Amino acid sequence: MNGHMAGVGDQPTAGSFMHGVQVIDEDKEFNTNLNEYFQLEHVAEAGFNYHLISVFGSQSTGKSTLLNNLFGTDFSVMSETQRQQTTKGIWLSKNKRAESAGTKMAENILVMDVEGTDGRERGEDQDFERKSALFALATSEVLLVNIWEHQVGLYQGANMGLLKTVFEVNLQLFLKDKQSTPRSLLFFVIRDHIGTTPLANLRETLIQDLTKIWSSISKPQGLENSRIEDYFDFGFAALPHKILQGEKFVSEVQVLGSRFTAGHRNKGSRSENELEGGLFLPEYHRRIPADGFSVYAEGVWDQIVNNKDLDLPTQQELLAQFRCDEISREVLVTFDNVISPLEEKQAEAVRLGKPTVLEDLGPSGSKARVAAIKAFEIQASRYHKGVYTRKRQELEGKIDTRLKALYQGQLTAAHKAGVVAFSEAVSNKVKAGQKAGGAYEFAEIVSNEKKKTLEIFKAEAEGLVIEGVPWTNFKSQNALFEAELDEVSGKLRKEEMRRLAVRVERWVKSRLGEAIGVEFNKLGSGRAGSDASEAEGKSATEKDLWDRIWNVFTGIVKEAEVRFVDRAKSFDASDEEVEVGTWRLRRKSWVALREKIDEEVMEGNILLKLRENFEDKFRYDEAGVPRIWRPTDDIEGIYTKARESTLKLIPLLSRFRLASTYAPPDLISFIGPQPSGAEAGDEEDLAPIGGVDEEEGKSLEEETTVLSESKRQDLVVRFKKTADGVFVEAKRSAIGGVAQ
Ligand code: GDP
Ligand code: MG
Repeated sequence: MNGHMAGVGDQPTAGSFMHGVQVIDEDKEFNTNLNEYFQLEHVAEAGFNYHLISVFGSQSTGKSTLLNNLFGTDFSVMSETQRQQTTKGIWLSKNKRAESAGTKMAENILVMDVEGTDGRERGEDQDFERKSALFALATSEVLLVNIWEHQVGLYQGANMGLLKTVFEVNLQLFLKDKQSTPRSLLFFVIRDHIGTTPLANLRETLIQDLTKIWSSISKPQGLENSRIEDYFDFGFAALPHKILQGEKFVSEVQVLGSRFTAGHRNKGSRSENELEGGLFLPEYHRRIPADGFSVYAEGVWDQIVNNKDLDLPTQQELLAQFRCDEISREVLVTFDNVISPLEEKQAEAVRLGKPTVLEDLGPSGSKARVAAIKAFEIQASRYHKGVYTRKRQELEGKIDTRLKALYQGQLTAAHKAGVVAFSEAVSNKVKAGQKAGGAYEFAEIVSNEKKKTLEIFKAEAEGLVIEGVPWTNFKSQNALFEAELDEVSGKLRKEEMRRLAVRVERWVKSRLGEAIGVEFNKLGSGRAGSDASEAEGKSATEKDLWDRIWNVFTGIVKEAEVRFVDRAKSFDASDEEVEVGTWRLRRKSWVALREKIDEEVMEGNILLKLRENFEDKFRYDEAGVPRIWRPTDDIEGIYTKARESTLKLIPLLSRFRLASTYAPPDLISFIGPQPSGAEAGDEEDLAPIGGVDEEEGKSLEEETTVLSESKRQDLVVRFKKTADGVFVEAKRSAIGGVAQ
């Protein structure tokens, strides 16, 4: 091998491809650097826009010379003096000419120079002849058959032996799939054409020979009646002797070169299978994308050398798998560059327990997806359709798995953030409303905030939608989010109910404080409305004290309930919630009343009231005029009457009894049964009420006892002492008045 040729195993450089690239060497090894040459010559990116030509013919018939002249290539030619074979194996080179005889040649013509057949130098190794023919046939659109003029008609000649091989191999090669049988052009170049026999005659002779050969080959079953025209088109050209007619040779070669352009079948031509004009018909193309050619050729060669049945459709599928996987990996690298940082960011946020909504995830994800699939489509769709479709789905699957996880994470983050934002916003608005004097509409706040939060979430989910990709529809997540907001709203409403309850309870307490205080204060004036019931020693005011307290109390509670219900309804509280709320309110109000009563009857307070009551009766006459005691007055009598009258108040005060029924108020019906809607915990903070909560072991009697027996007696003793003090004072003043 010459040092300036790029052979198998050499490291490729631009210079090393000067003479083209050795596809297969003399040891039948395939050159894995083939694709480097394709890249170097910018054929790799050409897709289907390239053409492959091979040359066939006996040794030393000027094949390499022809190619070099036609395409400006630099294939080795036998030196004129040494006459031994120079071309070894199969070489490939790109056409170096842009035009020929003023005509633009097709782009990216790749020429394969095949080692001469005949096997003259190779001796008994006829095997390579067959294998290289097979290889050329599987890959080439045009097969140039180089033949001396004097060989034409020599049916037994070595060249015809080669053609027989080509035909047989062709039938075997494409047996598997008749549908995909590609046509090839057999283009005869008749060398050293003297000119005495016209080309037309030579053509006739050659066609006759070819037909003979075709009929002589053994055809596989089912193809017995096939014709040579089913598989091949023909073309013919003659060239003058290169050495004897040098100038003419060059110009004729130029004319021949101008035919290497795109062509079309001329329906009206004499012979359907004879080509004139442009030689490259679309149907000759093997449809192997240029960037997959080396892999495909290697697979084909591998099958050939291993003597396997050459199954080109399978080869094409294998190639498609290989290349589609390769392209898929490439596009995934680009996809990764966009998606991985986002995945990491999301994972980190989750690790830190702060799920984060990534900005512009939808556009980034969709852009990366579209770009990856588009890039895959551009490169891979040239390959076997079935494989391409499957591999595209695989790629989409991989991309979508990644995006799905990312998008789910995004929506989870949006969901969590949304719920937090919602409850915070509602709480803040409520707080602000409370600060501003409580004039806020809870239901309105909730519905506004819910709408806002839902819109943000929806926008996020919609931002993730990729057109035509069904899994990017996140309607169910929307519904889930809304459901959770409703749940949170429910909790917030409950809190609001509690706040409302506290407010109303406070209001009840303050009203009770005033109103009940007023009723007890009335005890201080013993004469009020006294006339009618003077006989009984008690005024009407005193007698119906508890009726009035009960009325005032139920009136306040009723009013409070109305306030509570109105407000609760305004924020869509349910009937059950309202029922539980008012039930709690009544209980708490009763407890508040009891506390207020207890406060009123506290020792010092009640004693003061009794003393006032007594003094009022003792020190004022019936007309309400203060008495000036004189020694003649019946001080003892007045004193006893007033004292007894006031003393009668003590048993009255001791029990909460209605004058109308002589019984405690009907607390059980007032409070009502525990509503069925009350949840566990609703009654936890409620003080037990005797007679209402039976299991507490306290009766209604006890609940409505204001002063215990011992307290009563104690009060009697202390009041008497106080009254005695007033009496003594009155006595003294009467005597003193006389002394004056
Ligand atoms: P290959 O073995 O078929 O590739 O033949 P080469 O191109 O190496 O040429 C073999 C010999 O034929 C060389 O010595 C060439 O000079 C010679 N040769 C090339 N072209 C022609 C031609 O058109 N006519 C004749 N008679 N000889 C030629
Ligand atoms: Mg040669």
